[in-house]
Amino acid sequence: MKRIIIAIDGPAASGKSTAAKLLARKLGYVYLDTGAMYRACALAAKRARIDITDPLALAALMSRIKIRISFAEEGNIIELNGEDVSSAIREPDISLLASAISAQRLVREKMVELQREMGRHGGVVLDGRDIGTVVFPDAGLKFFLVAPPEVRARRRYLELLQKGLKPLYAEVLQEMIARDEADSSRELAPLVPAEDAIHIDTKDYGIEELTELLHRHFLKRAEGQ
Ligand code: C5P
Repeated sequence: MKRIIIAIDGPAASGKSTAAKLLARKLGYVYLDTGAMYRACALAAKRARIDITDPLALAALMSRIKIRISFAEEGNIIELNGEDVSSAIREPDISLLASAISAQRLVREKMVELQREMGRHGGVVLDGRDIGTVVFPDAGLKFFLVAPPEVRARRRYLELLQKGLKPLYAEVLQEMIARDEADSSRELAPLVPAEDAIHIDTKDYGIEELTELLHRHFLKRAEGQ
């Protein structure tokens, strides 16, 4: 069967990345975490201490960074100018900065080009905010995953606890709502479902069940081909 492109979009902590990773593994596809790319840009901007709304400073930064993604069993390995930053980009302060920097045209153009290049042969599951609308509008299968903010914030809170951090639930929730609001209302590639996306509320599913559900949709689509 033709190896298609699968787009999984949705707000923060809606279960996209884990489900995308497991679905890719099940299908023998590559998994591409596009949020990690924007996070790597944010980390570069933080380290360079630039004002991301200054077009010249941003252009200079974007011309000197190289983001490379490779694939490991546990997920993507993200390199920024040759350094493995896979853990550093998960620091909580990078999330809001990633959201801010991803609203900049220059950054989006560069990342979307990279994503299209990596996905062009198919056999790939990408998770993000604009995969089904902008990056691959012709993707063979599109999902839009949602869940109530409290459910998503709880997931993120538990993830942070597991990492040994001491998050405050109220802060995690507030930050998540602010980030969703910024991602949904921005001018460029806002977080909106593609018209032909399958909507799933993930609050009632465990991760295995969710992956099964996505897989069933995949098989149904494959039968229809
Ligand atoms: O998915 P993750 O939470 O790691 O994404 C971090 C940020 O990157 C998001 O809040 C969003 O602003 C941005 N992003 C985006 N387009 C994507 C993926 C992520 O704008 N395709």
